[in-house]
Amino acid sequence: MDISKYPLNKLKERIELSNFILITTHVNPDGDAIGASLALMNIFKEANKNVTLITPNEMSFFLKWMKSADEVINYEKQTAHSQEIIAKADLIFYVDFNDTGRLGKAQKSFNSSSAYKVLIDHHPDPDDSADLIISETSYGSAAELVYELIKNLSYSKLMNKDIAECIYAGIMTDTGNFSFACSYPEIWKNMAELIEYGIDKNRVSANIYDNYSESRMRLMGFCLNEKMKIIPEYNSSCICLSLKEMEDHNHQPGDTEGFVNLPFSIKGIKFSALLLEKESNIKLSLRSRGDFDVNEMARKHFKGGGHTNAAGGELSKPIENAQERLIEVLKEYKEDLQ
Ligand code: 5GP
Ligand code: MN
Repeated sequence: MDISKYPLNKLKERIELSNFILITTHVNPDGDAIGASLALMNIFKEANKNVTLITPNEMSFFLKWMKSADEVINYEKQTAHSQEIIAKADLIFYVDFNDTGRLGKAQKSFNSSSAYKVLIDHHPDPDDSADLIISETSYGSAAELVYELIKNLSYSKLMNKDIAECIYAGIMTDTGNFSFACSYPEIWKNMAELIEYGIDKNRVSANIYDNYSESRMRLMGFCLNEKMKIIPEYNSSCICLSLKEMEDHNHQPGDTEGFVNLPFSIKGIKFSALLLEKESNIKLSLRSRGDFDVNEMARKHFKGGGHTNAAGGELSKPIENAQERLIEVLKEYKEDLQ
């Protein structure tokens, strides 16, 4: 987990010499994407650098309490303005993704930029779109990797409570509230350091996990009662939601966050899928327990990727037969799911 092997002195020099730093992260940014990116942005602000964060699309409402979240530019909503900023940047940080396809509609603009690009990520097999690739799969979150980078770039003196809360939020969400991807001692040493910055750990947790609407709870109830299909021969669960069903429950971005993990409360479940109908396709979230590799499944069958136990991808419409198509894929993995 030692990141001193990367040319960090040169990176620091580039940061110091840059006129305009741009940070970006993946489409549908989650707690780790936003926590890691805002931590980096806030450190650069503390270092008196000119810095902007562009997200490919809207972040979930329950992440907007983080420091500087109100300054984030949404590419989807402010496309022309985003393109101007991308053209202006001389140093770009790609945070929490391994493939520029994850930039969604912003991909083309970023690809055409000639700025020096730095990838900071914890997913396996990053593509070669960045000039400097800081890729460490042993970290449970990109936010923790950003924290290591802050320390290794000698920016610790710029750390404060707000930045520590961004990092903590990223670690907390990408470890499923400390239930996976955190079985190594270093993470707990980092956690102790973050607590020492005076973070309000309970408030961070409540901001993220106790901040939903009544309609989100009703949608969860609907999913569990009427939509969750248990497939006992594969120890699997599948929840499929159509656009209409989401609209009927006044769905807001972020409302289905965490639904894919609910079926694991059932004894014996090893694989869970959440299929959400979008305007032009179906978004899949895949989760597993143990060594069943959903990253491999997502890459092979769903034009996606991720980690061993958490991955995502897409399927073409219609939603009506999406569940059957997923079950067809599961047949190939029957033995691994016993
Ligand atoms: P989620 O299911 O929460 O959207 O994503 C879970 C994990 O899979 C995350 O690590 C995310 O980066 C990755 N992931 C989700 N969707 C995609 C996708 O379409 N392509 C790739 N390469 N990774 C994805
Ligand atoms: Mn992450």
